[in-house]
Amino acid sequence: MSCHDPKDRSRVGLYVHIPFCQTKCHYCSIYSEPIGVHDPARLCRAIESELNQYKDVDLRTAYIGGGSPTILPAELLVGLVSKIKQTWPTIEEFTIECNPGQADERVLQAIKAAGVDRISIGAQSFDQQELVLLGRRHTVADIYQAVRVARRAGLGNIGLDLIYAIPGSNLDTWYRNLCAAISLGVEHISTYALTIETGTAIEAAVAAGKLEPIDEETDCRMYELAIDVLESSGYQQYEISNFARPGFACRHNLGYWLGGQYIGIGPAAASYWQGRLTRNLMDVRGYTHAIEAGLPVICESEPVSDRQVIWQTAVLNLRMRQGIEIVDFAEKTGHDPLDLFGHVIDRYVRDGVMAVEEGRIFLTRKGMLIADYLLYHFVL
Ligand code: SF4
Repeated sequence: MSCHDPKDRSRVGLYVHIPFCQTKCHYCSIYSEPIGVHDPARLCRAIESELNQYKDVDLRTAYIGGGSPTILPAELLVGLVSKIKQTWPTIEEFTIECNPGQADERVLQAIKAAGVDRISIGAQSFDQQELVLLGRRHTVADIYQAVRVARRAGLGNIGLDLIYAIPGSNLDTWYRNLCAAISLGVEHISTYALTIETGTAIEAAVAAGKLEPIDEETDCRMYELAIDVLESSGYQQYEISNFARPGFACRHNLGYWLGGQYIGIGPAAASYWQGRLTRNLMDVRGYTHAIEAGLPVICESEPVSDRQVIWQTAVLNLRMRQGIEIVDFAEKTGHDPLDLFGHVIDRYVRDGVMAVEEGRIFLTRKGMLIADYLLYHFVL
C-alpha cells in the first residue's frame, strides 16, 4: 500500500499557530490564551511579518491550526488566508481547523474563495455528556451544523477529530460516536485516545478521585473497534490515528511523517527547517513585541545531527501504515534501514508486531496497538 506521492517528502509544509481560545478545554495542554485579553489584529500583523521571512521558500501545503483559528474576526482570518495563498500560489492543500460552534457559512465561503480547500473540525465526541466532561464549549448539534455549513460553503474535503477512552465511556458509547461521524459522510476521521496531560483540569479531577481513567485493555479494544468500524465503512487507516477515504489522506501531515521539513509561524510554533528544530516564543505579547522590534522570535534552536535525522525519519515513517519504504529511506539517508535497525526489527518481527514485505518495513495490526511503546524503543 502506498498512499502518498513520493514527492511529498521533499515538500515543505507551512503551519500557522493561532493561539487563541474562548476557554481552556479540560484535557488540553496546547499553548493558547483567551482571545479577550489580546489584540488579534496586532498578532495577525506580526504573523504576516514572520511569514514574509519565508516568501522565497517553495511551500506546497499549509495548515492553520491552534488554538482556534475560527475564533479570529472574519476579516483577519480571510486576510491571513489570502496573504498565504497569494504569497505561495503553489500551495496544493490548504487546511484550516474549525471548532464546531464557530462555523459561520459566510466566513467559510470567504476562506474557501481565498484558497482553503480542507477543513478539520474538532468534533471530539457526539455525546453531550462527554463534551461537557471534556470542557468543550460546543454541542453535538453544533457538529452537525458545522459539517452542513462547510459543505454548503463548497468544501469537499472535511475531516473530523474524535477522542476515545474518555472516563465513563465504553465500547458501546464509542461505537455510537464512530457511527455518528461516519453518518456525516466526511472524507477524513482522526481518532485520538484521551491522554491525561499534566496541568489540565482532567488531571486534577483524576488526582482527586473524581474521574476514573479508562483501563489499558479497554483503550486497546476501543482502538481496534475504530479500525474495524472505519475500515469496513470505506476509510483506510493510513497512520496510527488517521483514516481517510481513498485520495483524502492529509498531505500536510504526510509531510511530517515522511520526515519532510516544515515551517511553523506564530507564538509557540515549532519548525524543522534547514537542519534545525526550533520553537518560537510561547507568549503572544513577547512574540508580537519581538516581531515589531525586529528581534528574533525563535527561543529554542538545536541542530539535528545525521543520526537524529535517520532515527526521526524511521520512527515517523513507522507511524504510517505503509511504514518505511526501504529504497526511499536509503536514498534519503544513505543507509539501508535493515542494516541500521536489524537487531530491533528482527525482535519485533519475531514478536509479530512488525513485518518486512514488498520493500517495506511496517507495524502489524498488533504492533499498531502498542505503537508508542514500540517506537520509543526503536533505537539505533
Ligand atoms: S479549543 Fe483546542 S486548543 Fe483550544 S483549549 Fe480546546 S482543545 Fe485546546
